[in-house]
Amino acid sequence: MTVTDFPTTASGVRSPIPDLPAPSAGERALAAARFQLAEASRFLGLDDGLHDMLATPRRSLTVSVPVRREDGRLEVVQGHRVQHNLSRGPAKGGIRFHPATDLAEVTALAMWMTWKCALVGIPYGGAKGGVAVDPATLTTRELERVTRRYVNEILPLIGPEKDIPAPDVGTDEQTMAWIMDTYSANAGYSVPGVVTGKPTALGGSLGRAGATSRGVQIAALQALASTEGARSPEGTAIAVQGFGKVGALAAQYLADAGCRVVAVSDAGGAVVRPSGLDVAALRAHAAGTGSVHGYRDADPLSRDELLELDVDVLVPAALEGMITADNAPRVRARLVVEGANGPTTPEADLILAGNGVTVVPDILANAGGVIVSYLEWVQNTQAYSWSAGEVEVKLRDLMENAYRAVADLAAERDLTLRQAAHAIGVGRVAEAHRMRGLYP
Ligand code: NAD
Repeated sequence: MTVTDFPTTASGVRSPIPDLPAPSAGERALAAARFQLAEASRFLGLDDGLHDMLATPRRSLTVSVPVRREDGRLEVVQGHRVQHNLSRGPAKGGIRFHPATDLAEVTALAMWMTWKCALVGIPYGGAKGGVAVDPATLTTRELERVTRRYVNEILPLIGPEKDIPAPDVGTDEQTMAWIMDTYSANAGYSVPGVVTGKPTALGGSLGRAGATSRGVQIAALQALASTEGARSPEGTAIAVQGFGKVGALAAQYLADAGCRVVAVSDAGGAVVRPSGLDVAALRAHAAGTGSVHGYRDADPLSRDELLELDVDVLVPAALEGMITADNAPRVRARLVVEGANGPTTPEADLILAGNGVTVVPDILANAGGVIVSYLEWVQNTQAYSWSAGEVEVKLRDLMENAYRAVADLAAERDLTLRQAAHAIGVGRVAEAHRMRGLYP
């Protein structure tokens, strides 16, 4: 055999080894999560062994999910469940259905969940799940089959005392209802506490559907009041990237607080109206058509342009890696409030900080979802339910306390809000590790 017998790879060389693919979005997210942990470990003076424990997930499971399509074909998709840390309580984290999800992405998201739960003071470790499917291409029955089969494959890991899933990108209350049913059918009795973000008819908490967005609103208003010269929300111009479960209601709650939501985007496009969008009408349009694209009372905009608009506050609420070294220099908002997980890369973080842009980090700004998930789980384990008002008061308390702790540490030690949030979250998990010791 000579070299000419080898196939030509995409980069034009003859080789039996295909070109290595560029890192996936998930791999970049995991590198960012590891960078943030290393930075926090250095700040806290953690030894290398403890840092390595925190950098490594405790358990990762990859499963094949065979799905029978309506036309009889059998397709196999990959799913994952990662439990990053279990030192402070059971693992907790959403399940994502997205075609690009991979083990690296799920690991990064699980790691961020660990710090988030510790930061807001709820007794969980971090987890995440993902299935590499595009729910938009599946019928409801196919989606139900994927969900139930995936849950069956990860069944040994989950449970109300072990690991409690919740909704994330591409999943919703209906997905959680199927998960609860599949788990309960296997157990032989109803186990509402195995998932959160369920429909209220199955033990879901009042206030859970809007909890992440409510938390984004609370964090944004606190940041406006404390970092932007005690600015009131009235008239503050806001752009929101992502108009799904988190982004659409964040836009609504910010508009309700008096802000001027001037632009929003989703996977289908973006729209802008400098005098302020009617967010309720836009939500109705998006619910009817599947996208904000084509909304009549606004002008079309490219998705990229939205990030660079001359607004006061930018709320990225779509996916990871959206604000990068490429576009960060052109971000004109003075405040970025991260509804999404990992929307800002570490390089972009440095550029934004250098330009005087304040970033309220994901593990703080979007913690409202897991806070009310925790409240839902507490209600389920006590077979009791709180009023919407009681849930709202508890959510606000936990969010505001966490925000104050982060802002105080940042001011005291000259850190960014992200560095301070990670220092607190990672520090609490490290303390739990030290106190528990190592077994055996
Ligand atoms: P979702 O699937 O309901 O919505 C995602 C939205 O992002 C959709 O509107 C989609 O069209 C849009 N989108 C995708 N790619 C885009 C792009 N390139 N530009 C603009 N928009 C784009 O998901 P969600 O639950 O709203 O989650 C959004 C983010 O918030 C994710 O990072 C998720 O991990 C995070 N998060 C969600 C929750 C929760 O409770 N759902 C809690 C905490 C954090």
